[in-house]
Amino acid sequence: MKISSFRPPDRILMGPGPSNVHPRVLEAMARPTIGHLDPEFIRMMDELKTLLRDTFLTKNDVTFPISGPGSLGMETAVVNMVEPGMKVVVCVNGAFGGRIKEMIGRHGGIPLVVEAPWGEPIDPAKLEEVLSQNKDTKVVAFIHAETSTGARSDVAALAKIARKYGCLTIADTVTSLGGIPVRVDEWELDVAYSGSQKCLSCPPGLSPITFSERAVNAVKNRKTKVQSWFMDVGLVLSYWSGAKRTYHHTAPINALYGLHEALLLVQEEGLENAWARHKKNAELFRAGLEKIGLKPFVTGEASLPELAIVTVPDGVDEAAVRNHLLNKFNIEIGAGLGQLAGKIWRIGLMGYTSNEKNVNLCLEALKDALKR
Ligand SMILES: *Cc1c(COP(=O)(O)O)cnc(C)c1O
Repeated sequence: MKISSFRPPDRILMGPGPSNVHPRVLEAMARPTIGHLDPEFIRMMDELKTLLRDTFLTKNDVTFPISGPGSLGMETAVVNMVEPGMKVVVCVNGAFGGRIKEMIGRHGGIPLVVEAPWGEPIDPAKLEEVLSQNKDTKVVAFIHAETSTGARSDVAALAKIARKYGCLTIADTVTSLGGIPVRVDEWELDVAYSGSQKCLSCPPGLSPITFSERAVNAVKNRKTKVQSWFMDVGLVLSYWSGAKRTYHHTAPINALYGLHEALLLVQEEGLENAWARHKKNAELFRAGLEKIGLKPFVTGEASLPELAIVTVPDGVDEAAVRNHLLNKFNIEIGAGLGQLAGKIWRIGLMGYTSNEKNVNLCLEALKDALKR
């Protein structure tokens, strides 16, 4: 077999992530690799931290991208905040809530679950009930935008209750950052992490994270060492501390050029304008879905503009529709996960993908697929 250079097909990425990458981000990533201790690279890292603070709407000093995908951001949050034997309340309304619960258990925490049915947000009253019965809880974890079901939880309300019971919070903002408001300081979130490939128009592989001063102090006052060397925020930070920095690992240099450019694009557009664009295209898409007789699985306040969840109509082969979209239109959409497999499609309008042309093309493609 003769192997030649890999040339990916031209796809329109309308699944639950990755989304299409902005051409300026790809161009930035193709620039020459320099040393990770080069003073020019350090200057770029400092700018990257500033851009991330502006995107998370925080003044947190400890704000930087983890060298790894969103799941590594999730595990970094957990491994730093959770000590063996610690009670942690975890809100589970989909696959990602289930994943963080699994991580809490693996790192020795005792997960107490607040559940909501798949497709619904977490009920803040239920969180309060569990916390009032478990006053020795130290940390509360929740998912802002549950990508497996398309439900948005009220993170501000959940964080407020957690603070009332003296708990620190971990917020998953992987699918929300850049797409809908994420206000780390205003909502007093303690640890928030995200991913590069959803609403930030960047390839996968980086996980922006931010720690409040309260969170940093909690890590400093741990009785036990952070269970992971690589993810220990105290150690990684020495690498992200400007001119004083010391070697920790070799940063994914060109990937960081990409994130720098992606965040610059957000700044140029304006964060609020980016939220408004996601909202406008989502409304257009939803109106179009209704016209062709497709029903949303999540409605109202809990629905996410960056991710439409569509119920597969009775008698329709959901995989055949996805294959038709891919083969005839080069459009990728997502299938349901876990208990929603075969029942829904997950159609993303995230980051660079969120534009009117893609909305119309996807509606056209769905109409064509359903005709068959
Ligand atoms: C995609 C996603 C993750 C995981 O990110 P990866 O980059 O795939 O590891 C975590 N949480 C949520 C809510 C996500 O949508």
